[in-house]
Amino acid sequence: MLRALIYILASIFIITLLRGIIGIITKGVGQLFEEQSPTQASKSPAPGAGGELYKCATCGTFSSPKANLTLQRNGQTLYFCSESCKAKNA
Ligand SMILES: [Zn+2]
Repeated sequence: MLRALIYILASIFIITLLRGIIGIITKGVGQLFEEQSPTQASKSPAPGAGGELYKCATCGTFSSPKANLTLQRNGQTLYFCSESCKAKNA
């Protein structure tokens, strides 16, 4: 009688465990397909959008771009973290 109960409990435990593992696998596969889909890849944020960071051309500090702290040189836009860094590179 007790052995049967243990067997049932063990079965329930194994089924629950398997369900969890299958859930993780399907979730992982879903995320993998989402990353590979071209529609997701083309959704890169526009330059200057909030949260994007640029490396300071003088000291290498990453900061959000500010309109007055950029410099055009050889067709490239240089970004600076502060006025002093901009002055050093000017
Ligand atoms: Zn700097």
